[in-house]
Amino acid sequence: MLRTMIVGSLPRPTWLVPSGEMYVQWKLDGMSLTEGQDDAVLLALTDQREAGLDIVTDGEQRRRHYIWGFVEGLDGIDFKQLAKISTRGGRYGNQLDAARVVGPLKRRNSIVRDDVRFLKQHTDKPIKVTLPGPMTTADTLADEYYRDRRTLAGELAKLLNEEAHELVEAGADIVQFDEPCFNIYLDEVEKWGIRALEDAVKGIKAKTAVHICYGYGVGIVLKWKTKNTDWSHYWRTLPLLRTSAVDMISVECAASGVDPAVLAEAKGKDLMVGVIDVGTEEVETPEKVAARIRAALRYVDPDRLYPCTDCGLIPRSRATARGKMKALAAGAAIVRAELNAQR
Ligand code: ZN
Repeated sequence: MLRTMIVGSLPRPTWLVPSGEMYVQWKLDGMSLTEGQDDAVLLALTDQREAGLDIVTDGEQRRRHYIWGFVEGLDGIDFKQLAKISTRGGRYGNQLDAARVVGPLKRRNSIVRDDVRFLKQHTDKPIKVTLPGPMTTADTLADEYYRDRRTLAGELAKLLNEEAHELVEAGADIVQFDEPCFNIYLDEVEKWGIRALEDAVKGIKAKTAVHICYGYGVGIVLKWKTKNTDWSHYWRTLPLLRTSAVDMISVECAASGVDPAVLAEAKGKDLMVGVIDVGTEEVETPEKVAARIRAALRYVDPDRLYPCTDCGLIPRSRATARGKMKALAAGAAIVRAELNAQR
């Protein structure tokens, strides 16, 4: 019970990307890039093992960006001539460079299967692999071909499903889809977002998960969060997910104003509960983490509760990321000991 893991990403070493930057070109290329990424994955594994986490990821060390890492492996997309689009419902007020969908989407071959094999070879712990969710991916592309968000998400779901099946064959124990847009387009989630997600997880012989958050712990998002007063989004999405085919749901609870009582709306599902704020360099004490876990335990059974980070740790310094992972494992250990003592 109370098995710990991170949402997915960890900061990347400075030999791969300039310090602190998220959306950049790699510093290396060719074989040097492969070796540099292999080394970064091994360090990410070491950090998670030393922290004492129960389920591990590759820290998304091979991905330039959580969406682009997948769509760069697809045909039908122009990555050279980008278009400026408003994403995430304009919530964060910025326009982003987006790759353009210019033809039918096709997956040339496996995109991250070899990455999963590498990870599996280097750890005995259960591994989690992350893919972008169909709705969020569709929201990040400039669609000049399908010209319909739902159709585009449906096409992406098929390709993500093919990929996910191959990742399970390669050893993935959990396949997680990242869908921050499930906290934004609530009507569309109900109309077709859940369906697209279910198409993406169809027939997968491993645990499937969906990560829903209020965005990365970066400046533009933090600015929105400090002004936001409406945290009711999960009250609509969790009841929809409760009857869906997805096994696990990741909910941001540490840095948002989300009331943990909403977790009861997903009764029967496994819940990854965010107890680590990824938007600050301040490392939580294990006691603080334990208090957040206890608050969630009022609504979730301990064998269904997976203490987790709110979102990816990529924007943090490496030292802070290590500290936060240690606090996560230590906080869970405190509560686990309390529960065992009560038995
Ligand atoms: Zn997130």
